[in-house]
Amino acid sequence: MAQQQMGNQPLIVLSEDSQRTSGKDAQSMNITAGKAVTEAVRTTLGPKGMDKMLVDSTGNVVVTNDGVTLLREMDIDHPAANMIVEVSETQEDEVGDGTTSAVVVAGELLKRAEELIEQDIHASTLAQGYRQAAEQAREELEEIAVDVDADDEEILTQIAATAMTGKGAENAKDQLASLVVDAVQAVADEEGIDTDNVAVEKVVGGSIDESELVEGVIVDKERVSENMPYFVEDANVAIVDDALEVKETEIDTEVSVTDPDQLEEFLQREEAQLQEMVDQLVEVGVDAVFVDGGIDDMAQHFLAQEGILAVRRVKDSDAGQIARATGATAVSSVSDITEDDLGFAGNVAQQDVAGDQRIFIEDVEDAKSVTLILRGGTEHVIDEIDRAIEDSLGVVRTTIEDGKVLAGGGAPEVELSLALRDYADSVGGREQLAVEAFADALEVIPRTLAENAGLDPIDSLVELRSAHDGGNAAAGLDAYTGDTIDMAEEGVYEPLRVKTQAIESATEAAVMLLRIDDVIAAGDLKGGQVDDDDDDDMPAGGPGGMGGGMGGMGGMGGMGGAM
Ligand code: ADP
Ligand code: MG
Repeated sequence: MAQQQMGNQPLIVLSEDSQRTSGKDAQSMNITAGKAVTEAVRTTLGPKGMDKMLVDSTGNVVVTNDGVTLLREMDIDHPAANMIVEVSETQEDEVGDGTTSAVVVAGELLKRAEELIEQDIHASTLAQGYRQAAEQAREELEEIAVDVDADDEEILTQIAATAMTGKGAENAKDQLASLVVDAVQAVADEEGIDTDNVAVEKVVGGSIDESELVEGVIVDKERVSENMPYFVEDANVAIVDDALEVKETEIDTEVSVTDPDQLEEFLQREEAQLQEMVDQLVEVGVDAVFVDGGIDDMAQHFLAQEGILAVRRVKDSDAGQIARATGATAVSSVSDITEDDLGFAGNVAQQDVAGDQRIFIEDVEDAKSVTLILRGGTEHVIDEIDRAIEDSLGVVRTTIEDGKVLAGGGAPEVELSLALRDYADSVGGREQLAVEAFADALEVIPRTLAENAGLDPIDSLVELRSAHDGGNAAAGLDAYTGDTIDMAEEGVYEPLRVKTQAIESATEAAVMLLRIDDVIAAGDLKGGQVDDDDDDDMPAGGPGGMGGGMGGMGGMGGMGGAM
C-alpha cells in the first residue's frame, strides 16, 4: 500500500493488495531475477554443455539442451525474469539458434551493471553506454564477417553441423547436416525460404543415421481401400477439399421406403452420383486423389476399379504441402475439376515406415516441400534431435538469406571485447565504464564454453586474447582439447545474425530492466520462482518482501546447479 502525504490527508493511490518495490530495491530485484534465469541455462552452452531434465506437473519429461525450450518448459513467472526469457524467444523467431548465448549475455550485462550501480553509476548512464557499445559491436561484427555464397555447400553444411554440436544429434551430425542443407535448398523459392515447408516426420525405431530426406511429402495415412494399387507412377494428383460422398441434403433421406422398388431406386440414384464423381476424376486423368473428407464405400469400389489410389481425411496442412510439392490446386467440388487443377508426382506409394503405413508423394519436379524422416531409439531422443534440426534449419536459412557468417567457439566475442575496450577510450565520461563493462560481459561466452568443457576459464581467456591481439580474429576455443584454434579452419561457423541478434536483444532487455526503478504489482509478486512448489509468498514492498523474493531466486539458482 503506497501512501502520499497531501496536506494532512494521506492519499492512497494503490489498492491494499498491491505491492510496490522502488529505487535500488527494484533494480536489485530485477537484476537478481535476470541473473537467475541465466544461471539456469548457462551449463548447457556449447559443445560440452550438459542437458537438463524437466518434469512438468503432469509428469511429462523433456530432456533438452536447447535454451529456449528449457526456459519455456520452466514456466517462469517473475515479470523481470520473463523479459530475459523473451530474449531467447526473439532469438528463436529471428534466427532459430543462439538462444542460450543471448540469455547468457543478457545475464552478464545485468551482473556487470549491478557492480557499476553499486559504485553509484546511474542506470541511465549505464543504459546509454550499453546502447553505444551494442551499436559499435554490430559494426565490428559486420567487419569481421565472412561472405558466403548461397550455394556454398561446404560452409552451409558446416553451419548446419555447428548448430547441432552438443545436442542429441551429435553422433550423426555430419549426415544430418547435409540433409538439412538439401532440405533448405529444396524449399527455397523466389519468395524466400520458409522452413515450415520442411516437414519433420519423427519415427521411433532405427538409428539416427537411418534418417533420410524425402523430396516430396509424406502423409501419415493409408490408401482408403486394400483394393487400390500400392503405388502409382507418373501420377496425376488431385486434391479435393470435399467428401466423396452423397450429400444428405441432396437426397431426401426422409423417404419412407414402403416397397422394395423404391429402396432399389434410392440406392441406384446414390450409386449413380458416386459413379459420376469417379468418372469425373477418370475423365481428367487422375491417378491419385487426396480427399479432405470421407470416401463412400461405393466410391472406393469405383476408384479401385479404375486403379486410382485414394486417401481420405487428409489434413489441411498435408494438403497444402502436397499442393506445393506437386503443383496441384485443391478443388472444392469434384464436379469442378479440370486438368489444370492436377499436380504431378513421379511416384505416389504406400510404404512401411517402422511398422506404420505412410503415403509417399515423391519425384516431384521441383519439390518446394520436403519431409525429413528422423529416426531415433526413443521418443525423447528424437524430440531432442528434432530441436537440434530446427536450430540447424534456422541457421542455414539465415545464412542463405544474409550471406554472412562468423567463426564460432567464442572467437567473435573475444574479438569484440578487445575492440570495445579500444572504443571505450574514445567514449570518455562515465559511459566509458559502461562500455568497458559491456566488453567484459561479452567474454562470458568463451568463459562459459571453457567452464562447461571442464577447462580453466582464465587460462583459456588469456590465450584467446593473445591470439586475437596477434591478429587472428577467428581464434576460438576447441572445447574438446582446450586449445586455441582457428575456428574458420575447423569449420565452426555461425550466421552473423546469430550474434548481432543476440547482442541486440540482450542489450535491449538489460537496458529495459535497468531503467526500471519502480515495480508496482497488483497482487502478489512472486520472487521469480521457477516452480510452484515454493509457496512462501512473503509480503513485498519492503526489505522483508525483498527477502522473500530473494529466497525464491536462491531456490532457482540451486535448481539450476542441481541439474
Ligand atoms: P546456443 O543456444 O546459444 O546456440 P549452444 O549450446 O548451441 O547454445 O552453444 C553455442 C556456442 O557453442 C557458440 O558460441 C558456438 O560458437 C559454440 N560452438 C559450437 N560448436 C563448437 C565447436 N565445435 N567448438 C567450439 N565451440 C563451438
Ligand atoms: Mg546452438
